Amino acid sequence: VPDADTLARLRARLRDLIGDDAVVDEPSELAHLGHDRCRGEWPVAPALAVLPRDTPSVQAVVRACVEAGVAMVPSGGRTGLTGAATATAGEVVVSLARMHRVLAVDPVGMTLRCQAGATVQAVCEAATAHGLLYPIDFAAKGSAHIAGSIATNAGGIRVLRYGMTRRWVMGLQVVLPTGECIETGGPLKKDNTGYDLTGLFVGAEGTLGLVTEATLELCVPPAATVVALCAVPDDPAIVALFTAVRSSGLPLSAFECFDERGLHHVQAHRGRAGEPGPLEAPAPRYVVVEIEVARPGAEARDAARASLTQVLTQASEAGALEDAVVAGSAREAAALWSLREDISESLHSHGPHKADVSLPIAQIVTFLARWRPLVAQTLPDVEAVVFGHVGDGNLHLNLLRPPSCEPTDFHRRMKAFDRETFELIAELGGSISAEHGIGLLKREHLHYSRSAAELQLMRQLKATLDPQGLMNPGKIFAAG
Ligand SMILES: Cc1cc2nc3c(=O)[nH]c(=O)nc-3n(C[C@H](O)[C@H](O)[C@H](O)COP(=O)(O)OP(=O)(O)OC[C@H]3O[C@@H](n4cnc5c(N)ncnc54)[C@H](O)[C@@H]3O)c2cc1C
Repeated sequence: VPDADTLARLRARLRDLIGDDAVVDEPSELAHLGHDRCRGEWPVAPALAVLPRDTPSVQAVVRACVEAGVAMVPSGGRTGLTGAATATAGEVVVSLARMHRVLAVDPVGMTLRCQAGATVQAVCEAATAHGLLYPIDFAAKGSAHIAGSIATNAGGIRVLRYGMTRRWVMGLQVVLPTGECIETGGPLKKDNTGYDLTGLFVGAEGTLGLVTEATLELCVPPAATVVALCAVPDDPAIVALFTAVRSSGLPLSAFECFDERGLHHVQAHRGRAGEPGPLEAPAPRYVVVEIEVARPGAEARDAARASLTQVLTQASEAGALEDAVVAGSAREAAALWSLREDISESLHSHGPHKADVSLPIAQIVTFLARWRPLVAQTLPDVEAVVFGHVGDGNLHLNLLRPPSCEPTDFHRRMKAFDRETFELIAELGGSISAEHGIGLLKREHLHYSRSAAELQLMRQLKATLDPQGLMNPGKIFAAG
């Protein structure tokens, strides 16, 4: 934690460099800017926040902080779910919220260049305005910044079809922890000239530098999509249905699952507790299936809808499905999607402890068959809500804090239970973080997914790029 004199000098220097209105030290605003969506047992204690307007200002901020020996925390839309954008010990929060412009779209090369603080949604809309698609899609995209999504290598609901953020990042402008600015990659599709420096910053959680601009690849969107909501009897049926739809050859773009508690919380959040949703009766598990329609026109759409209905009927005859509704319009499709997409938000007020894990798809059933009883036995007062991206082997395990349990006690119990979850994940060949990253939340568990040699190499890379250890210290692994 910097001492008061150092901080006063740094505050004055930053005001000189980037302007009074770009330096925030008002406590309530600081508290707001000082953390992301994940609250753990760590403090929220930023010293200052800065909101630079351009890349030279970001460089000036970094150089001033390095000179003062004060650490920095890059901050995006603060929707992260691991505490990775949280300042815990007098750091300077560097928010790029004022650098939010989409700079250029190249419809021929199908690329887009934008500033770090453009939201994922703004990028999607800019691509759409040119008849193109930026296919990364997740519930927080209206608030998440493109740089935050790059720093976390965000996934979302269409990874099955389009891959993670990494797949779409062609180049970056990065201010390194020394203050130097580099351009990596760019709009060229082919450029085999040494190490993949762009890739190094994707998923780095802001520990290796501040992303200030990005060049992204775009693609041609499908003409339309067809969406169905399915009621299924149990966890094995979810995977059986996935296998059936995928092997039918239909162009699957999403396959998402959630349990009855997920639907319950979404409906309760909407003031409709107890209502079963668009299906006639409540079911133990639900699946949202989306397929793409390649050709435009009603005929192609109707044919796709008929094909999906046929595959679902066959699955029903095989016992993998109890009921289903296929959306008849884009509005109906959005309503079905919202049942899955609104789960995270509807759980937020319950202070959920989240584990975002991945498994080989073939192990999902085994995992849930062992994990659900483990929760029931070890945490009998805690409600579990499971949803996820089945097609990517990615489950979001949510444990809700009982109102009677104090937050500190809950965190302690969750910490102990995480070990049981991650041991099971490791045994079944999975990963302790599918898409949210490590941050503060999982750093002590990283060894379940990375070998000692990998961890050592990661630390060496960090030390090479950030010799003073001032860029988002303590995230991914403990500082020092
Ligand atoms: C309702 C909800 C649903 C979600 N669904 C998904 C989902 O389906 N899939 C998924 O992957 N995630 C999901 N998330 C998590 C979150 O939205 C993503 O991790 C998102 O990519 C974070 O972006 P952000 O701008 O909010 O980053 P922040 O939370 O602000 O920061 C995240 C990390 O990025 C770093 N960072 C931010 N800006 C920069 C920068 N300019 N340069 C370098 N590093 C930077 C931060 O230091 C931090 O380490 C969800 C979150 C919520 C609240």
